[in-house]
Amino acid sequence: MSMSEQKHDWTKQEILEIYNKPLMELLYEAATVHRKFHDPNTVQVSTLLSIKTGGCPEDCGYCPQAARYHTDIEGNDLMQVSHVKAQALRAKASGSSRVCMGAAWRNVKDGPEFDQVLEMVRTINKLDMEVCCTLGMLTENQAQRLAEAGLYAYNHNLDTSEDYYKDVISTRAFEDRLDTIDNVRKSNVTVCSGGIIGMGEAIEDRAGMLVALATLNPQPESVPINALVAVEGTPMEDMEPISIWEMVRMVATTRIVMPETQVRLSAGRTQMSREGQAMCFFAGANSIFAGDKLLTTPNPDVNEDMEMFKLLGLNPQKPFTKVSQPKTVEASESQFKDLGEKPKWTRPGHSIARNEEAKAKSKLVE
Ligand code: SF4
Repeated sequence: MSMSEQKHDWTKQEILEIYNKPLMELLYEAATVHRKFHDPNTVQVSTLLSIKTGGCPEDCGYCPQAARYHTDIEGNDLMQVSHVKAQALRAKASGSSRVCMGAAWRNVKDGPEFDQVLEMVRTINKLDMEVCCTLGMLTENQAQRLAEAGLYAYNHNLDTSEDYYKDVISTRAFEDRLDTIDNVRKSNVTVCSGGIIGMGEAIEDRAGMLVALATLNPQPESVPINALVAVEGTPMEDMEPISIWEMVRMVATTRIVMPETQVRLSAGRTQMSREGQAMCFFAGANSIFAGDKLLTTPNPDVNEDMEMFKLLGLNPQKPFTKVSQPKTVEASESQFKDLGEKPKWTRPGHSIARNEEAKAKSKLVE
């Protein structure tokens, strides 16, 4: 595969062959691809903020925020913009380059609440942080309005394979997810889409989800890989946790089939040892969620993560730096006077949709 090429005709069989390789071979291959496209010592840190918790009408079998399940989640109305700003500043001070705001909605509805979210996006954007939203289904017009407010990325997970989807969710179809991703793609907002493993799916379903993501053209700029956190009161409360080896295989396979993508370790990190996480970074993960909570489920403490970064010699990525980096180039000092130091980065492999303001801030060497 050439450095700037994405392969978009992956088949399930090809992906299964990668997933099932002897582990050492899989790790070697994934780490090789990773080094070709990314700085292996840089990991992007995102903070996830639940701006509207609980009371969701959907029935996602893994989710404690679905109104129909009896979980301990305390529902909240939409957060005030000032509160969001304070949380974003805290996240920035502790090393996050991106704030991802999640609302437990089936879909976005035009009106005062959406206007409030747009204001949150504008506010965080002014803090020189990347802003991501995950708000449910979205029309093309709403995606456009978010783009105009300065949204950097929109998260909409495929969750699992098309075949297994109906075993997890009945209130919407896999096709609806693809439609929203398509609407985001039509704006200049980057796409973040991944899934969850450990929901009782077969390995074929993991490969099926990766086929659906990798055959998108362009591929998503970011792919979160979650391990199910089985929450009491949800239909998946009794699921056994997946092993670290499954996580490592999933991360490595994702890295190989989507070489330029940012692969994010998401839910389930509290169940992983540092050794396990290190192996995931080696296999190509280059993003994590920071903060003691991931929407509603526990997440490692920020200080613990920073200790782990120190131990492993990892550096948090600066905001608005490019994801795919085949070749290192030195940027001139004058370009980065606002960043306080002279960073290294590399030439983008292909054009990724991104908002103009972000582009201006990143001052990429095209
Ligand atoms: S995952 Fe999202 S859409 Fe599904 S129930 Fe939870 S909040 Fe609602």
